[in-house]
Order: sequence, then structure tokens, then C-alpha cells
Amino acid sequence: MSTEQPGLFAGLEPEPESSALPEAVEFTPAIVTEPFLAGVDLPSSFPEVSDHQQLTEIALKCDRCHLRATCKQVVFADGPPTSRIMFIGEGPGKDEDIQGRPFVGRAGQLLDKILVSASFKREEVYITNVVKCRPPENRLPNPNEVSLCRNYLEAQIRIIRPAIIVCLGSLASQVVIDPKARITKIRGQWLQRQGTKIIATFHPAALLRNEGYKRPTWEDFKKIRDEYQRL
Ligand code: SF4
Repeated sequence: MSTEQPGLFAGLEPEPESSALPEAVEFTPAIVTEPFLAGVDLPSSFPEVSDHQQLTEIALKCDRCHLRATCKQVVFADGPPTSRIMFIGEGPGKDEDIQGRPFVGRAGQLLDKILVSASFKREEVYITNVVKCRPPENRLPNPNEVSLCRNYLEAQIRIIRPAIIVCLGSLASQVVIDPKARITKIRGQWLQRQGTKIIATFHPAALLRNEGYKRPTWEDFKKIRDEYQRL
């Protein structure tokens, strides 16, 4: 498989490939006696549902929070539930709300390019968001909305049990890794929970705003690619 930097990251100095996982540790089997996401109430995270299609159908009818009143549709996920890698963003934007698929707008198109650059096929990865309904005016989801919707994310992780989770941006990092996480501090570092390896990197939308994030994002995606190829 080619390790050349593609056009998306052209202009960045080539770096020696690192095959080492910084926190290489023995990965233990999944333990599901406690929630994957800190603070989630297990009885609220659909413990009776073990089928992805069933969970999707429940979510598509959801009106647990008022985001559903202003969006066009619930945008649950994209990609096969058998995928070994899950990317988690923030929430649907205008294009996603219209099309019913996550990451299809400008940021999504950039994510597609990054995935290709890192030797992934979009159709082999599972992509979702912290909240499944578009917040009005693309604002950040508020804590109440996140608290309600993360039950779906908890169930997705339990059902899919990905080997790797990639948090795209601050909100996903705060929901999955640590409520106080700052993306500039924690990105690019592996950690492990319940047998799943977790890493955070910048949200593609941040790259559209700040060219300086291209280099660290590419470094992160090389780590993700290398770890995925070791699975
Ligand atoms: S954002 Fe989540 S909790 Fe709120 S209505 Fe949509 S699916 Fe339900």
C-alpha cells in the first residue's frame, strides 16, 4: 500500500513513518458492565437492543430533545455496522440534514479526501455524530441535547464494538474521552477503553478554517491508518 503523501497534504515535509503505538499496551476484552461513555445511564442506552437496524429505526423516530422540532430528519450514521473503525463528529449540518447522511457537506468532502489519502475507503468506515439532529444555525449542541443523544452513541459503540474510535474535534473528544478535553492538547494520543483504541484529531471543518491544522491532522491519520492496518 502506498505511503506517499497525496495531493491533499502536498507541500508538507515528508516524515519518517512511525510504526510504534505511543501507548502500546495489552488490549483486554470488552467489559460492558459499565458505560463506554462516562456519565451515561446504561438503562437509558437501549440495553434491550442488540441489532443496529433496530437501533436505527428507533433513532429515526426519536423526538427526545427539541432539536428534532427544527431539523428535517434524524441523521443517524453512515457505513457498515460491521466496520472495525468508527469516526465520531459533532452533529449534522445543513447538507447532512437535507441528505440524511453524516459528513456530506464541505467538511465531509474534505473528510473523504483525508480518508482516501490515508488509504481508507469511505464505504468501509462507520461515521456518526454525537447528536443526530441538526442544531439550528449550526450552533453547538447544548449539554442537555448531548446528554440525551449520547445514549444512542453509547448503544452504537456497544453494538458495533469498533476496534478503533476516532473523535473528530472537541465535542466528540469531550463526550468520548474527557469532558475537559482540549483537542489541541489531546489529539494524536492513543488511549484504550474496554478493548477499543481511541484517538482524537481535528474536525475537518477546522481544517477548512485553519491551514495550520493540516500537518497535525495528517500525522494523526497516519497513526490511525497504521493501527487500522495492524488489526
Ligand atoms: S438529537 Fe438525538 S435525542 Fe435529540 S431528537 Fe435527535 S436523535 Fe433524538
